Amino acid sequence: MAVSPGTTNRVPIRMHELPITESILRVVLRHAEGQNVRRVVTIRLRIGRLSDLEDEWIQRYFDYLSAGTVAEGARLEIERTPVVMRCSACGASYEAETGRMGDLVCPACGERGGTLLSGREYHVKEMEVQ
Ligand SMILES: [Zn+2]
Repeated sequence: MAVSPGTTNRVPIRMHELPITESILRVVLRHAEGQNVRRVVTIRLRIGRLSDLEDEWIQRYFDYLSAGTVAEGARLEIERTPVVMRCSACGASYEAETGRMGDLVCPACGERGGTLLSGREYHVKEMEVQ
């Protein structure tokens, strides 16, 4: 019997978190490998404040993708890391408020804008295993 994927697959509302959650799971499983891990209990993630990844969706995709692995049922704890800019004029780095990204001024010299040093990154900080 032919099944049309268009009618059987539920289309997720957000696809954004899926590839990122996949890569997080890959990192977790690689760390767990060969370490006699029965089960991954908690995974602590650091995600930049500028990223628009939503915690709820990451957890949802994680639950889905990790089914049948040692990370199945693991709880994600997500810590948001600050946005850090480097001034292009004087080289000072400073923390920026996410709500004011269009209007950044270096606190050291008053120059506008700069280069984003961090704020969009994501990584696995640590994990608790059994
Ligand atoms: Zn400056």
